Amino acid sequence: MDMITISDLEVFAYHGVLKEENSLGQKFLISAELYMDISEAARDDDITKSLDYTSICKEISDFLKKNTFKLIETIADRLAKYLLIKHDNLNEVSIKIKKPWAPILMTLDTVSVSVSRKWHQVYLGLGSNMGDREDYIKKAIALLDKEEDCKVIRVSALRNTKPVGPVIQDDFLNGALCMKTLKTPQELLALIHKIEMKLERVRDIHWGPRTIDLDILLFDDYIIQSEDLTIPHVEMDKRLFVLEPMAEIAPWLRHPIYDKTMKELFDNQVRQCRA
Ligand code: ADP
Ligand code: MG
Repeated sequence: MDMITISDLEVFAYHGVLKEENSLGQKFLISAELYMDISEAARDDDITKSLDYTSICKEISDFLKKNTFKLIETIADRLAKYLLIKHDNLNEVSIKIKKPWAPILMTLDTVSVSVSRKWHQVYLGLGSNMGDREDYIKKAIALLDKEEDCKVIRVSALRNTKPVGPVIQDDFLNGALCMKTLKTPQELLALIHKIEMKLERVRDIHWGPRTIDLDILLFDDYIIQSEDLTIPHVEMDKRLFVLEPMAEIAPWLRHPIYDKTMKELFDNQVRQCRA
């Protein structure tokens, strides 16, 4: 991917764990790698289609002066996210913060921290089978979109589906959505749990009725198997109520384990159900 680089921008600011650092201040050197597609800007020789590095330098400097953090880790993480949220055409940002005057009573060149942050492409499964099902789903989507590091891009149609599994319960309304996020998979799981709780979901019967169920179906092409998180979502390849909306919004998208597109997985499943 194309990249614009800013190297060792000098900013005087007041970050640090020691209170002397917060009162006396010191020099920080900031480097940024800004990943974006610059082909249109280059073709038209038009700065409005690229990023103006003068204003980016100003934004970085203002950010370091307006906020005070203890750790350069925090500055790097927050600054990367700040730039990604502010500039729509940025896909990924790497930030390196150097502290040449780190007060450690020894001589060193610099101490530094580097982070890379990017927009992840995520697909969520949506479900509800209690109360005003459509309203619960709409509220959940609005709560996701309200987060400044999450942007809902596309939502499928919502379909009425028969419940699967051993519990006798009302029909579901199901769908899927595509979003981008700066959150890690664990942070996104925490957010969907928070939204489920806010929308009065009670976890009493496993696979039982729920006001809202939000599942992480796919997260980039990550494969994760941990105690509380499995990505891709287990059995998404076998569930029509997941595959149908996925085949609607992303038919070309490939499942990272089965190496089949959503459309292929959906068609296979329809064939098996008929057989
Ligand atoms: P289900 O969605 O299977 O009906 P729950 O919504 O109650 O059940 O989720 C149970 C647990 O599944 C959650 O607490 C979560 O830790 C775990 N889980 C594992 N992988 C995922 C995922 N990809 N998305 C959402 N939850 C997941
Ligand atoms: Mg769930």
